[in-house]
Order: sequence, then C-alpha cells, then structure tokens
Amino acid sequence: MYEEDTIAAIATPPGEGGIAVVRISGPAAEKIARKIFNRRHRGNGALRSHTLYRGQIIDPKDAQPIDEVLLTIMRKPRSYTGEDVVEVHCHGGNFLVRQILALILSQGARQAKPGEFTKRAFLNGRIDLAQAEAVIDLIRARTVQGAQLALNQAGGGLSKYVGQLREELLDILVQLEAAIDFPEEEIELLQRHHLIAKINALIDNINVISASYDWGRLFREGAKVCICGRPNVGKSSLMNALLGTDRVIVTPIPGTTRDVIEESLNLDGLPVIIWDTAGLRDSADQVEQIGVALSRRYLEQADALVVVIDGSVELTPEDQALLLIAESKKVVIALNKSDLPSVVGLQSLTTDRSTRVLTTSAKTGTGIDSLKQTLRELILGFVTESPVTVTNLRHRSELQRSAAGLIRAVETLNQGLPPELAAIDLSDAREALEEIIGVVSNDNILERIFANFCIGK
Ligand code: GDP
Repeated sequence: MYEEDTIAAIATPPGEGGIAVVRISGPAAEKIARKIFNRRHRGNGALRSHTLYRGQIIDPKDAQPIDEVLLTIMRKPRSYTGEDVVEVHCHGGNFLVRQILALILSQGARQAKPGEFTKRAFLNGRIDLAQAEAVIDLIRARTVQGAQLALNQAGGGLSKYVGQLREELLDILVQLEAAIDFPEEEIELLQRHHLIAKINALIDNINVISASYDWGRLFREGAKVCICGRPNVGKSSLMNALLGTDRVIVTPIPGTTRDVIEESLNLDGLPVIIWDTAGLRDSADQVEQIGVALSRRYLEQADALVVVIDGSVELTPEDQALLLIAESKKVVIALNKSDLPSVVGLQSLTTDRSTRVLTTSAKTGTGIDSLKQTLRELILGFVTESPVTVTNLRHRSELQRSAAGLIRAVETLNQGLPPELAAIDLSDAREALEEIIGVVSNDNILERIFANFCIGK
C-alpha cells in the first residue's frame, strides 16, 4: 500500500503567477535537492531544516542555471507527509515550473498521483482519514462558513469526537464481553438495563452529529429555496423585495417570468440560492409550458418553498393545487398584496396548523423581514446543536451504519438473546466509527478518497 519512493509534483495551480511551488517528498528528496540547487558561493553544505534558502536551480548535466528560487527542506517527521519534504518556490511561468519538475523527475523522483502527499500524511499517522478528507473540502470551500467547517475538521474536531464515541463503545463492549466470558454468572437483568441505557445514549449522540450533515451541507452549498405560485401573484416582486434590488422584471402581464431566475441571498450567514419560477399552471403557450415543467423540477429539488398567494383576490383552483403539491415540502405561505383589501382568510389556506402563513406586501415591504426569518428557521429546522458538524457523505453513512448496529444490539439485549449476538452488532458499530477516522481502512476506500484530490496535494 505504501510505496517508499520519492514523489514530486507542482503544488500550485496551472497558469502564470508570481511564484509557483514544486514539492518533493520521500527519502531521496534532500539528495535530489542538493543536486539541482546551488547557493552560489556558499555551497550546499548543512542545509538546516525548516529554513528558506535562496539560490539557483541548475541542470546538473551542464551546470546551466534555470531559475532563481527559494528552497526549503523540512526533515521528517516534522513535515506535511511525515517524510523528508523539499519545496522549491520558483517563478510562476508554465514552462519554467514544468522544466523544474522534469529536472527533479530526471533525478529519480516519480510524478505524484492525485492526493498522494496527503495519503502519505495519513499513512504516516500525521493526520487521520477524516482530517485528510477535510483538506480537499478546504481547498474546494466556497463560503467562509464552509471553509471554517473544513478547517475545524482538518484540525481534528470531528476525529476527536468520533474517537470519544468509539471509546464509549469499547467500554460497553468490554462489559458485554465480561458477561460472555463468565457465562455462569449470567448477564444480570440490572446489568442488561444498564448496558441498554448506555447504548441508547450513544445512539442519541451519534444521531445528533449525523443530522448535522444536512446542516453542514446547507452552509457549504447553500439552501435552495423556490418561490412558486400562479402567475401574477407577485413572485418576482417578492424576490426583488427579498433581495432588496430590482433584479427581476415585474410586469402586470401574466407569464412574464418564463425561465427560472436564480439569485443568491444571505440569510444571516446562511447562503441561500433562490429560484423565481414560472407560474405553475396549464398553458397552451409552448415556451411557457417549458417554463412550467422546469419550475416543477426546481420545486422538487428545493429545500424549502415560498408559496405565494394573492390575498386580494379569491383563491383559484391553481392556488389550491399548488398548496396540495407543497404539502410534502418545508413551506412558508406568503399571503401577498396585503396592502390591498384582503379577500383570502388565513384559515382557508391550510388545515395543518404547523404550516407557517405570513402576510406580506412586496410593494410596501411589509412582512419581508419576518419572511426571511421564518425561512431561515424553517430551513435549518430545530436540529439539536451538534458538538461537531459532519460535512462528508461517507462519514454520515458510517455514522448511520454505526447507529443501526447499536439499535440491533439494543433489540438483541431487550429480547434476552445471548450477549454474543449483541457483541457482533456492537463490533459492527465500532468498525463503522473506526472507518471514519481510518483506524481500520481498506485500500479501496483509500484509493477512492485520494483520487478526488488534485495532483500536488
Ligand atoms: P409574478 O407573475 O407572480 O412574478 O408577479 P409579479 O411580481 O410580476 O407581479 C404581478 C403584479 O402584481 C405587478 O403589477 C406587481 O406590481 C403587482 N404586485 C406584486 N406584489 C404586490 C403587492 O404586494 N401589492 C400590490 N398592490 N401589488 C403587487
């Protein structure tokens, strides 16, 4: 699994830049550096670790200088990979950087595969698997919150918590195994209840952090909100009011918004992608029909819906049909045009008392702030505050697998079945937790995870 050769790659993105970094890691890193690096009159003797040296990259064949660079050696184990690492900070020209890499490869290094530096960091125990995976999330983060979550995970926040859960689980397993080892003492009823209570507490904790996945995804990728309603109820006006701009054309001719318009909104730190959709109605106009089909698709993908109803006219069958469709989603009903005499009563809108209904006027701005606040609460839900946030789908499925194993163990104990059976379920639950941090890991998982990385990381 671990190839002990020396790898090298360009660590900075392609294109021209002020500087670029070429990274070498492995037992021959320093030897290669000494061959291609020249400190002019000072020679190369005794390069200190973690120190930046200025000099030239030269082709050892003919001593021809290639670039003026800064070079640093980070001797093992105090380096990213845990091996000897050399970084060459050269000028950031496409050709130049590749020439330097080619020179390094010609001296015996091998081109690194995607994520191979981070994989070595993991295999050398510098970081665990969850931390390694956070590195890629950090690189790809698109919002401040997303980056912060990834940084926290890279720093070991999630690993530490999962590690604690694992310890608790090991504790329970030890008690259970004691009962297995001394069968004549039978597992007492009291002890059985005690074990079940402990397992249940563990299940609760796992469920809380597992649920934080949705929360993390919302902050990382943005929540999707779809504004829907029949034509002319004020969807576009409401979107403009939410955004505080006049982005969407508003006209009194029904069916003006035929496409889906996408905008971003920041709801008190929660990034929201907001879609203004074509009115949902049967239409003979082909272009409009496409728009209507499109909006149904958006409606299905949305994390929450704002169903807009024109409160100044009687409800139409279209309004009612939409309210029915919306029932399966998180929904806020905006009874719009509240500046006009009201015709629709709040009670007539829904039978479900938990559905949120607000009166708004896109024209005067009344109710827009409470619409924003209600939307945020609705999207985030009432998830118990989680001590850590899970942002990776693989981690979430392992947590769910672990909880499922624990639930099976509780059932087994409740039924008075032999403790050996419960121990099998608990071991499965433990293994799932261990796969998150990489205490146990198989090559396939590792290959998949690190293949997602870019080369040079
Ligand atoms: P959409 O087809 O649902 O997107 O509706 P629009 O936003 O295009 O609005 C249709 C018409 O209703 C326009 O003439 C708007 O000026 C008007 N309108 C929208 N919201 C309000 C409101 O809150 N009060 C009043 N009086 N008129 C509104």
